[in-house]
Amino acid sequence: MSHLKQSIDTLKGVGPKRAEVIQSLGIKTIEDLLMYYPFRYDDIQEKTLDEIQDQEKVVLKGTVLAEPVVSYFGFKKSRLVFRMMHEQAVIGVTFFNQPFLKSKINASEEIAIYGKWDGKRKALTGMKILATQDDEEDFSPIYHVNKKIKQKTLVDLIRSTWEMYGDELEENLPQWLVDKYRLMPKKQAAYAMHFPRDTAENRLAKRRLAFEEFFLFQLQMIQLKNQETSKEQGNAILYDVKKLKAFIETLPFELTKAQKRVVNEICSDLRNEKHMHRLLQGDVGSGKTIVAAICLYAVVSVGYQGALMVPTEILAEQHMESLLGLFDPLEVSVALLTSSTKTAERRRILAELDSGEIDIIVGTHSLIQEEVRFNHLGLVITDEQHRFGVNQRKMLREKGDRPDVLFMTATPIPRTLAITAYGEMDVSVIDELPAGRIPIETRWILPKQVDSVLTWMNRQLQAGQQAYVICPLIEESEMLDVKNATEIYEHLSEFFSPTYKVGLLHGKMKSQEKDAIMEEFKDNQLQVLVSTTVIEVGVNVPNSTMMMIMDADRFGLAQLHQLRGRVGRGSLASYCILVANPKSDQGKERMKIMTETTDGFVLSEKDLEMRGPGDFFGAKQSGLPVFKVGDIVADVMILETARVEATELLADSSWQEKTENQILVKSLKERDEETEFLD
Ligand code: ADP
Ligand code: MG
Repeated sequence: MSHLKQSIDTLKGVGPKRAEVIQSLGIKTIEDLLMYYPFRYDDIQEKTLDEIQDQEKVVLKGTVLAEPVVSYFGFKKSRLVFRMMHEQAVIGVTFFNQPFLKSKINASEEIAIYGKWDGKRKALTGMKILATQDDEEDFSPIYHVNKKIKQKTLVDLIRSTWEMYGDELEENLPQWLVDKYRLMPKKQAAYAMHFPRDTAENRLAKRRLAFEEFFLFQLQMIQLKNQETSKEQGNAILYDVKKLKAFIETLPFELTKAQKRVVNEICSDLRNEKHMHRLLQGDVGSGKTIVAAICLYAVVSVGYQGALMVPTEILAEQHMESLLGLFDPLEVSVALLTSSTKTAERRRILAELDSGEIDIIVGTHSLIQEEVRFNHLGLVITDEQHRFGVNQRKMLREKGDRPDVLFMTATPIPRTLAITAYGEMDVSVIDELPAGRIPIETRWILPKQVDSVLTWMNRQLQAGQQAYVICPLIEESEMLDVKNATEIYEHLSEFFSPTYKVGLLHGKMKSQEKDAIMEEFKDNQLQVLVSTTVIEVGVNVPNSTMMMIMDADRFGLAQLHQLRGRVGRGSLASYCILVANPKSDQGKERMKIMTETTDGFVLSEKDLEMRGPGDFFGAKQSGLPVFKVGDIVADVMILETARVEATELLADSSWQEKTENQILVKSLKERDEETEFLD
């Protein structure tokens, strides 16, 4: 019997205490331990000085020029300083509070130091001295550990476990696939992750394991999608084409080409008895609401009900208003359900939903409550879908008899990410804005120029316009966010007093308070609105033409773009002022890109390039799958290959019966048992 599935506490030297510590790293079985790969390697031959970014952590190798000097200061504090020759450059190296290192640093000897690079002083703040003699050690794996277990302990354990059980690791991809892409065999690859001979071998190992992860993931996703869309599960909503066309005729404007295309895509899904499971992407202002309205009308035209779920009350009210306007001449009954809906009204709405008198319901989370029952729910739409958890989306969907589902998002997800994250969905994209929009003008200024911006803002306020001021994002604590916003609010209140009124909006306020402030801003009782990022979602105040974003370099590009989308919603020219003094080149680059493009897709691709997928939406909201080895950005080619292979394989309906694929059937079964993906 294989030992791989046994618990790690069966290993020699691993008692209950140690087992608990190791389990806290997510390692349960011997197999998990063997496949607990390093997250990076200290690679000494990595970079030259001009490639290194300021404040980057690097390993630099060189010759010690003279004995280090240790000086003491303060209480038990010390500084160890010496200079070393690295290629043609002399570099200062400082170690703080490690005076004992002196004995390890000898003049004219080779040394390798891991530390943080100070680009301005051309100096390294040392963190660790690495071995240099042995080439094998130059490339040393670094594992995620916690306070209770040391790197070395873990490495030793992995090594001894490998010696005992490594041989039992089996190939989990079919031979034809391994041959086709000349993949490194599983066992060899896993070994080369822990104990690589050199970078080349390590790279091949990563390639193999990334391919495996992506491939198995894609197989699962595509299978899931095939299940969801399988024939017997959906409704064929044979909407009334004439009525729908007539409705589109009544709209105050001509649909853009992109809107027409996505309406067609969605409507053909509705007609089809397959279960629709579609993501609608469209930049802020691209006109998703009208598309939603058309689709809702389509299902209503043949007696089904539709639901539109949004993350906030403000948005729900906004949508309600738009829908009422659009459906005004028609016999469509629309209702709004939120947590502020009064009891009597609520009771009436629930009854009428149940009886089918209400055609369309707009609402917040309130829609997924137990008591909400539909008569004949045909279509569910969620707006700003990333704000909802998978469960919430599922609950709404389960209120009907397999209703079709449309998810809308203004977060432009690059194609590569859409495939991985939403591999199970079809994707429609509105990639064009309605004609005649005046592009938002974006400027980047330094903090010391803020006063002149305020003076300019004052003039625009005189002309009757309004402004948002967005406060920096302080990730460590919401309390700091609030404090900061309050300070800015006080400063601006004073500056604009008594002529203009300033409001404050932040995450610690109750939703009623927030809504009240928003209402006042909408009604122009407040001319300036100071806000934290709570303003981000779908707010529409066309008279607000100015936005100033403080410490803009703290935000990612995608988020800046979302924020900026709050202005430029009317017929007046709009402005976005980024206040920032970024230290890093990357920060400067980000500000510059913002001033150069307003295309959300371009920005999100850049954002992803610069920040990595983990940071893209903020980890919690993203619902993106996490891969152990593969990186959906850096390994995009592997991802694409894996996707094509998976699609081709599944196109063969008898693939599971073939002998050569049995290995795969087994791998998938194991994965299904252990993976929970998406949120
Ligand atoms: P979003 O995609 O951000 O939800 P909205 O649906 O709120 O965008 O639309 C933004 C604005 O553009 C609305 O005022 C809407 O009436 C308007 N709009 C939508 N489609 C068109 C169009 N084809 N032509 C002109 N204006 C449009
Ligand atoms: Mg919208």
